[in-house]
Amino acid sequence: MKEYKCKYCGETFEKPLLLARHVRSTHKRAKTREKRGVEKEKLSDQINRTIEAIGILKGLQVSPNLSQGEKKLLQEVSQGIEELLAYTQRSK
Ligand SMILES: [Zn+2]
Repeated sequence: MKEYKCKYCGETFEKPLLLARHVRSTHKRAKTREKRGVEKEKLSDQINRTIEAIGILKGLQVSPNLSQGEKKLLQEVSQGIEELLAYTQRSK
């Protein structure tokens, strides 16, 4: 007799309908939670990269090859990113 195995927990069912119902009731919530975890990880990865980029921008600001206007622009941009970052971390 054919069995329908749950791909999440390995439990077997006689009918696909029973399996579908089991997956819906037992695993749907867990799946959503897992997805949220991945998104959070992505976000914190992004934040780390942004912090790194701000560091690079700040390093560039003291470069002797830049004009005053360019330095000012870099300063404004890095400040803007920092504000965005602070906002993102507050709303988390
Ligand atoms: Zn299952």
